[in-house]
Amino acid sequence: MTLTAPFDNTYARLPAAFYTRLDPKPVKAPQLLVYNEALGDILGLSAASEEAQAAVFSGVSVPEGASPLAQLYAGHQFGSFNPQLGDGRALLLGEVVGTDGIRRDIQLKGSGPTPYSRMGDGRAWLGPVLREYVVSEAMHALGIPTTRALAATLTGEDIIRETVLPGAVLTRVAQSHLRVGTFQVFAHRGQRAELKQLTDYAIERHYPEADGPMGLLREVCKAQADLVAAWMSVGFIHGVMNTDNCTISGETIDYGPCAFIDDYHSDTVFSSIDQTGRYAYSNQPRIIVWNMAQLATSLLQQYDDPQSMVAAATEIVHAMPAQIEAAWLKRFGAKLGLANPTPEDAAMVERLLALMQEEGADFTNTFDALARGEARDQFLDRDAFDLWAKDWRARVADEDTAQALMQQASPRIIPRNHRIEEMIAAAVAGDYAPFERLMQALADPFNTDDAELMRAPTKEQRVPATFCGT
Ligand code: AMP
Ligand code: MG
Repeated sequence: MTLTAPFDNTYARLPAAFYTRLDPKPVKAPQLLVYNEALGDILGLSAASEEAQAAVFSGVSVPEGASPLAQLYAGHQFGSFNPQLGDGRALLLGEVVGTDGIRRDIQLKGSGPTPYSRMGDGRAWLGPVLREYVVSEAMHALGIPTTRALAATLTGEDIIRETVLPGAVLTRVAQSHLRVGTFQVFAHRGQRAELKQLTDYAIERHYPEADGPMGLLREVCKAQADLVAAWMSVGFIHGVMNTDNCTISGETIDYGPCAFIDDYHSDTVFSSIDQTGRYAYSNQPRIIVWNMAQLATSLLQQYDDPQSMVAAATEIVHAMPAQIEAAWLKRFGAKLGLANPTPEDAAMVERLLALMQEEGADFTNTFDALARGEARDQFLDRDAFDLWAKDWRARVADEDTAQALMQQASPRIIPRNHRIEEMIAAAVAGDYAPFERLMQALADPFNTDDAELMRAPTKEQRVPATFCGT
């Protein structure tokens, strides 16, 4: 049974300047590892044999109606501008409008070399594919905007990294793969017609109410402010907030060396390539403003007199810190059981975080315990906690009502680093049971009772650094 999808491709109808048309490079022995049936149903994908799914999701066969292409983009990587990146190992198969009326991209990641591959092989290995699968689906279950995982396949080919590793392809779904870097490439090249066309396209696709380039900027800033506040509220560190990894839709994208905090410290960095801590946990709200300033700069280039619009653009970007602060307060207020937190409540959040940092308390478990009236046990310095809790009790009107709200704001489980590494090691050895178990617990993060997966890592289990390991 072949696999069909109701493709309706708009990006492929844009001029050739936006992409390179290309078919995926077939792989030796495609094997389906996992298919996200619930998501496939939303997308309107047909039922199909496992063989047909393996063929489509590894790039061996291109379904009818798809128009595979590699998208062009640029980007600031760790602050330095790279004038041309592009999909170096991914292909957009096309778009579908789902049963929910939402238009989404279906993309293969690890599908072979493209004109944008530079020195890369165009491939991915199993580890990062499963990591992205697990973490992106976990983010979705947490209610945080994200690209999603539709399928993972093995290619039957060896991938050469530091060692020889099993090749894999991730099928990724996103409301679009437009990035800040997509605007940057045309702005940098002075291609104003393309920049205008891209702006119109992004408005129509994502923010139809937005009025012109500055309207678009305002909407993206808002979406990204909310997104970063949501990340902060679950202890998520993206790790590579380069402008090419920053979406126009406001979805989290490109899960590389990302990780969730175990023991809380605001300066936490996991990525081994982030030497200066540019993308540290507490720096994310500042970096997203910097990224939006790059988007603003690019958008300005389409005006006949860009200078005349600088003040308007600046005002929009400068509004972001207050937006992030407000979204942060809303999120962390809910974690303390406050439906309508005031600016004074921010100090109470900060006091708790400072206590947690002093003791290296586990971020997720502390907030989960707080939501169940058991937080005192999480602290070594009970007196310090009691002092804080006294003020907190005085602030929340009713503890039961507060706890109900807190239990919806603080997950019981996040994809912990050591569990992901464990899961990958097992999968490479052919054992997918840890993957299945992680997926099951993470699908219901506010209610799961998988005590073992909820537990913080021991000193020996702790994974202090993550690698891009693409
Ligand atoms: P990332 O760090 O995964 O967001 O990728 C940054 C850039 O490097 C993008 O243009 C990717 O397409 C490209 N890239 C990453 N890994 C590979 C690879 N194995 N082969 C070709 N290009 C790659
Ligand atoms: Mg990227």
